[in-house]
Amino acid sequence: MKTFEVPVIYRSPLISAIKARRKEQDRMKKDFTPTILDLGAVRILLARHFGFCYGVENAIEIAFRTIEENPGKRIFLLSEMIHNPHVNSDLLSRGVQFLMDTTGRQLIPWETLKADDIVIIPAFGTTLEIEARLTALGIAPLQYNTTCPFVERVWNKAGQIGQKDYTVVVHGKPGHEETRATFSHSQAGTPTVVVKDMAEARLLAGFITGEHAPELFYERFKGQYSTGFDVTKHLQRVGVVNQTTMLATETQAIADFIKEVMQQHFQPENIGERFADTRDTLCYATNDNQSAVTGMLQQPADLAIVVGGYNSSNTSHLVELCEEQLPTYFISSEEKILSKNEILHYDFHHKQELHSNNFLPEQGPVSILVTSGASCPDALVEGVIRRIARFYNVEEQLEAAV
Ligand code: SF4
Repeated sequence: MKTFEVPVIYRSPLISAIKARRKEQDRMKKDFTPTILDLGAVRILLARHFGFCYGVENAIEIAFRTIEENPGKRIFLLSEMIHNPHVNSDLLSRGVQFLMDTTGRQLIPWETLKADDIVIIPAFGTTLEIEARLTALGIAPLQYNTTCPFVERVWNKAGQIGQKDYTVVVHGKPGHEETRATFSHSQAGTPTVVVKDMAEARLLAGFITGEHAPELFYERFKGQYSTGFDVTKHLQRVGVVNQTTMLATETQAIADFIKEVMQQHFQPENIGERFADTRDTLCYATNDNQSAVTGMLQQPADLAIVVGGYNSSNTSHLVELCEEQLPTYFISSEEKILSKNEILHYDFHHKQELHSNNFLPEQGPVSILVTSGASCPDALVEGVIRRIARFYNVEEQLEAAV
């Protein structure tokens, strides 16, 4: 896979060495067991795959190169480039300005943009409406485009099944930048509806089968269906695509469920007449990172620490997997570990940061699972490991391991 130039501050010599060694030993990526750093009083079990993915490194390389090559120019990002506060604040500190927040709320009015301004499209991609708006302002929308190719692959898949008269069901978070972009691209070619979870998939099934009154659809899926969507006509043939970072098990369950509903309700001779076979459109990094967490969870451990931006979708799913099995702390950096006893960590279910005590045992041995999201610099993960090593006076053992 292509390699990118990413600022050295995001790299970690420790993690890079571990990743290089694992890659060398397992080129086909079949081994999902964690790397064990046995430091005596502390055992760190590091996931086989974590950290910057292809799309994030691509976006970081383009953004930092654009800043370097365009001194004196005004540079804007449509919104956060990736969901990591450290990377975003580094961009802000270099003079980049965000036009919108992650929910799409305008921070800088469009009217203030000029034709010679630079606007960078984030890794999530953007909507056709925003592209048209930039064009109207005299700004070439795709000149500084960091849209991940794995996101574009979803748009292509939606376009292909749309051409065959399937309605596209997008499994994604309706407010997420990527899902808004996918929705926009998909609805340009075919009726499209977004479902955020299995509960909404079940609700949609009630409209496929006619169990629910059609009028109810427009209320229950408000803001999640394309213009002109006719629930009595547009749920006869469907296909499912996903936001690339959803939970693999949920996305598979939703596709299987809708396929089964189509089979039961329409009784086609060939299911392809009613349900497009898209397989899942999760990206490789989501699959690898989630499989690595599943592999890591096979090992006995006392707790898990997941590092990443609090608004990062892929990171929250890693947390979801871990917390089914053991106490899990979702932190954005080592600074959230206030002391050996205190930690600030994010509860993504209730969208609030919590303060917990006694998250680490006073004495070792302690086994800690560690992973991070696809937008999290490895340097932050190393920071977490080093801080924990300090608490148990095993820094020397860590150096020896390095
Ligand atoms: S998580 Fe996947 S889709 Fe998103 S930027 Fe990374 S590689 Fe691309």
